[in-house]
Amino acid sequence: MSNDTIFDKILKKQIPAAVVYEDDQVLAFRDITPQAPTHVLVIPKLRWERFAHLADAQAADVGVFFQRVATVATSLGLDGSGYRVVINNGRDGQQTVEYLHAHILGGRALTWPPG
Ligand code: 5GP
Repeated sequence: MSNDTIFDKILKKQIPAAVVYEDDQVLAFRDITPQAPTHVLVIPKLRWERFAHLADAQAADVGVFFQRVATVATSLGLDGSGYRVVINNGRDGQQTVEYLHAHILGGRALTWPPG
């Protein structure tokens, strides 16, 4: 039985997604339930289940991931107006997919604090 998450399946092209960026390190695609005019998810091709696991990762790999998140946000044209990067971790963080992903949210003024 496969333990693949929905994001594993998107990465393997087993299910479709609106991909906005891909290279050898990351895949970025539009969230299926957008919470802002621009809502893109960035996943690392190195598989970590959640943010907490980065504590044991190679710093260079973690750095590449975050650099790519910034690259994708810029490529989406969000740099001028600003945007938010969110990573939900675990139950109280409302993480629903056990595959590390960064949300890029932009295109409107976001409220603070988050709920
Ligand atoms: P989390 O709550 O784990 O931080 O975020 C998971 C995100 O994945 C949610 O914003 C949800 O809308 C999105 N999502 C869930 N299933 C799919 C899917 O099949 N395709 C895409 N593109 N996004 C999905």
